[in-house]
Amino acid sequence: MKKFAVIGSPISHSLSPQIHSLFAEQAQIEISYEAIEIIESDFNSKVNQLFEDGYSGLNVTLPLKEIAFHYADKKSEEALLAESVNTLFLKDSSVCGETTDGQGLLLDLQSKEIELKGSNVVILGAGGSARAVIPSLLSSNLNSLYIANRTSKKAVDIVNIHKQNNPEINQIEMDESINFEIDLVVNSTSAGTLGEELVLPEGIFGTKTKSYDLSYSEEITPFNLIAKKRGIKETYDGLGMLIHQAALSFETWNKFKPSTKDIEQKIRPL
Ligand code: NDP
Repeated sequence: MKKFAVIGSPISHSLSPQIHSLFAEQAQIEISYEAIEIIESDFNSKVNQLFEDGYSGLNVTLPLKEIAFHYADKKSEEALLAESVNTLFLKDSSVCGETTDGQGLLLDLQSKEIELKGSNVVILGAGGSARAVIPSLLSSNLNSLYIANRTSKKAVDIVNIHKQNNPEINQIEMDESINFEIDLVVNSTSAGTLGEELVLPEGIFGTKTKSYDLSYSEEITPFNLIAKKRGIKETYDGLGMLIHQAALSFETWNKFKPSTKDIEQKIRPL
């Protein structure tokens, strides 16, 4: 039986084991899929051990995607662009790293009929998941993409990576005012997951703005609650993205494309 796991910290909330076992049922294969707590300082030793113990593939989540990128011997084009890895596996004794987050987000936005072409998008956060989804957002013919992060330098660094090919990307400060209509706000910060307060740019929520929080939780996420309180009608959490990115990892590992239909209903309410 092939062994897989999702690694990160905190990890107990992860729904990845449930999702992958539903995919395995579809594929009619037997797998094991665990959620394993690993902190940044233990990454190399623990991941080496997991591969030595025969794990075929690992999903990587908060806060390990950037370390996983550096750990992988071979990286997909998308991972190189994003400098972020959420899928690790062994091939010909090399560790391969891919990122499926960006495509996962796009597929979920499509399924929710959220039009990106010509839109103004703000992404909050500049960590591993922001790095991962930004190339996909930039491939969607946006009118503008603004990145705001608590540590401004990280947002500036990301803008510098993409600016030459994508002049529509810019950085804004978390406490800056926005004076035009934003179509979509994507929250990629871990503030909600960590139970911390999040300062938001003034004017970020307009009358037509939609809110997409990469985090997901049993109740409405803290970020989407703020959005609702500010009058936002359409709010989404990241469960759909989680399912789509998981399906892409599953396909890479098991050469079987699972259907994502009805998976969200099966695992929600969480
Ligand atoms: P990282 O640790 O790499 O990055 C965290 C980001 O959050 C950084 O930009 C950090 O800012 C910011 N941040 C943390 N605390 C605060 C705060 N109190 N106020 C403002 N900003 C804050 O995490 P990831 O990018 O990997 O993950 C982020 C979130 O996205 C997690 O909740 C994760 O669960 C979710 N996620 C969901 C996915 C899905 O499939 N639905 C996929 C990937 C991620 P700074 O740079 O200043 O530290």
